[in-house]
Amino acid sequence: MQAIETKMKSVVQEKWEKRPLIISGPCSAETEDQVLATAQRLANTGKVDILRAGIWKPRTRPGSFEGIGTKGLPWLQQAKKLTGLPITVEVATGKQVEDALHFDTDILWLGARTTVNPFSVQEVADALRGADVPVLIKNPINPDLELWIGAVERVAKAGIKQIGLIHRGFSSYGNTEYRNAPMWHLAIEMKRRNPELMIINDPSHICGRRDILLDVAQKAIDLDFDGLMIESHIDPDNAWSDAKQQVTPERLAEMLDSIIWRKEDVNSEEFHAALEKLRQQINHLDDELMQILSQRMKIAEHIGEYKKNNNITILQTNRWNEILERAFQKGEKIGLSREFITRYFDAVHMESISHQNKIMNS
Ligand code: PEP
Ligand code: MN
Repeated sequence: MQAIETKMKSVVQEKWEKRPLIISGPCSAETEDQVLATAQRLANTGKVDILRAGIWKPRTRPGSFEGIGTKGLPWLQQAKKLTGLPITVEVATGKQVEDALHFDTDILWLGARTTVNPFSVQEVADALRGADVPVLIKNPINPDLELWIGAVERVAKAGIKQIGLIHRGFSSYGNTEYRNAPMWHLAIEMKRRNPELMIINDPSHICGRRDILLDVAQKAIDLDFDGLMIESHIDPDNAWSDAKQQVTPERLAEMLDSIIWRKEDVNSEEFHAALEKLRQQINHLDDELMQILSQRMKIAEHIGEYKKNNNITILQTNRWNEILERAFQKGEKIGLSREFITRYFDAVHMESISHQNKIMNS
């Protein structure tokens, strides 16, 4: 067993560096047969690098399946023996870390409901001290990058050298197309701030439904993510958790085949020259936009002075609606979406208000 595990370490190392890195397996380990059959069928596709399964399931409401618990770990060990695939499970407590490591789990991951809680993250980090195991950290359920970074820091301080990120979307109130809004800008910002960490995307928990998985997976690859974690099950509709978002191993393989895999760079001078030229144009336009915005703010300041002298409020709702309506109409004709216009004018308007505020209170 020792020799097998030593060999496994180098397999894990190789997988950790592979791009794209593909992790798949059921949301939850349910029975020994289900784990072994899923693992075998995933291995048969030849497209999966690491086998995942939830052993302890943090459920939003009590009463649903909360995971098979420690007794599922030997099933995963068996699946690894059968297929050669390294295994990964979610850990949320110190005891779970101990149990997972005891059964030779190759990679651990922190779930979104753990990352959100510094007490839990610290408990997991303390249990990890001295272990030589890679750890993946999902984003917290709420859109707070500091919590995500905090979890990375706690795990790093415990001496874990291989840390990766999983973007699984953010919880929001009300019904949207997604189960968890991707908020791509946050993942991009996290990547910008931690360029040394790999980041993979989890379309399953973003979508919550299988019909849009591929769109989200493609978007992640277009944004240069390092890989994907996608849930798969031998009988998705009858899965004990997250039934709507799971796909069969064969469907997963089809999806992976239809993704257009992009690379960050190519070795072509022509391409680089063309790109450089276009980027310079973008830079010019950005400079101009900033100049124009600065002029706009100066005019807003003038208006602020008039408002101050006549003792009227900064916010004029009618005027604000008028600006937006005009912009929607113009924007539609020149290919700018309502969503973008709303966000853009909101930002511009807030900046104007803050300039006028300064004038009013000076
Ligand atoms: C899971 O991966 O099955 C899971 C519970 O995910 P998350 O922590 O992203 O909700
Ligand atoms: Mn799940």
